[in-house]
Amino acid sequence: YVQIDRLSKRFKETAVLNKVSLSIEKGELITLLGPSGCGKSTLLRCIAGLTDVEDGGKIVVGETDITQLSPKDREVGMVFQSYALFPNMNVYGNICFGLKMKGVKKEEYKERVERIIDLVDLRGRENSYPHQLSGGQQQRVALARSLVVEPKILLLDEPLSALDAKIRKSLQTEIRRIQQELSITTVFVTHDQEEALTVSDRIFVMDHGNIVQIGTPEEIYAHPASEFVARFIGNYN
Ligand code: ATP
Ligand code: MG
Repeated sequence: YVQIDRLSKRFKETAVLNKVSLSIEKGELITLLGPSGCGKSTLLRCIAGLTDVEDGGKIVVGETDITQLSPKDREVGMVFQSYALFPNMNVYGNICFGLKMKGVKKEEYKERVERIIDLVDLRGRENSYPHQLSGGQQQRVALARSLVVEPKILLLDEPLSALDAKIRKSLQTEIRRIQQELSITTVFVTHDQEEALTVSDRIFVMDHGNIVQIGTPEEIYAHPASEFVARFIGNYN
């Protein structure tokens, strides 16, 4: 469903992505897992159109080559580590923002917004402002805001790494539930191996701008392809 073909990216002399090719099935949740600086966010930003891929390569979603499309024409939803909600808008306003921008009429989106609020478990919080919410709740709003426009792909860049361990665990499970309920194709970025093993259909392990192994959590854990993967996944004796 998502096809990336020999995507390269360099900043000045430094190569950050080296001809990365990958494909993702429709409705699948894949994780990009790798150490800090290996190029995870850069790859995600290329998919979102926030970084040009002037260095070659191609990104196709469904039948559409999106490589040259502007971010807003790509129909991707993105959630970052920091919540970036609008502080002066309540939960309802934050969630509706993207729909208003698209010119969707209130009567048309009301039902959809209500459904998303239930889905991310924010019922009763519609009138709260971001500063009145916990970190976990703010990330639910961010998730709802990106899902409500019904993107083709959901891109999550370390969405849970600012949260404490307990909330993090419960949101991992919840993101997985929501992702499966909507069958939305998702790319989840993390440097936390445990998180990757928990949420993914498949894990793509990255090192220095290359994908060094692809497999299900079980495969990667049981049969790491290299010492690097073994060390990183924590199954190294
Ligand atoms: P982390 O886990 O720390 O978020 P990452 O895998 O997401 O790391 P990237 O943010 O993709 O890593 O960065 C990959 C490399 O590209 C790093 O060496 C970084 O310094 C470099 N880089 C990223 N963005 C830019 C930029 N705009 N200009 C110059 N160099 C950049
Ligand atoms: Mg990053």
